[in-house]
Amino acid sequence: MSENTQNPMPAAPVQRILAAAKFASEKHAAQKRKGAAAEPYVNHLIEVAQLAASSSDLLDAELVMAAFLHDTIEDTGTTAKELEQAFGSDITALVLEMTDDKSLPKEVRKELQVTNAPHKSVRAQVLKLADKISNLRSILASPPADWSAERKRQYFVWAKRVVDALPQPNPILKAEFEKTFERFKG
Ligand code: ZN
Repeated sequence: MSENTQNPMPAAPVQRILAAAKFASEKHAAQKRKGAAAEPYVNHLIEVAQLAASSSDLLDAELVMAAFLHDTIEDTGTTAKELEQAFGSDITALVLEMTDDKSLPKEVRKELQVTNAPHKSVRAQVLKLADKISNLRSILASPPADWSAERKRQYFVWAKRVVDALPQPNPILKAEFEKTFERFKG
């Protein structure tokens, strides 16, 4: 097996994807989803990865890996350098495109997602759509116990503003987002 410092990952896509899944599952091991069911956070990562994989007939293994890793910097204290060493610069750049600046107040971060959406790369737009679909599905299936109908509605409206600001949304995932959005009855 040839190895270099730039890309120490194995060649087979399934091995690379599972390495990313394992890394993410370990990093998020202590984290639960915010819903009343308090599912393991990795359920969200698997769903986002599955959606990213379903966005095209052609496998983009690095995109699926980035889907598994998309919340590691924001939620687990993983550094960009650590990701770069483990998975290379392409995946790290994608994860950084998905990372909010947690030093900012939540409402500012949410507005920035809308204003930054037009500048996302095409592949980051796939991840954005997949992330929002997964989040809407989980609010439909298991909303946080303390969320009112109005708070849920506001989340749906905000997620749609982010998605509507994506300039080149993946058509398969955009259709799935719309379908999921329509399921909200307040
Ligand atoms: Zn996420």
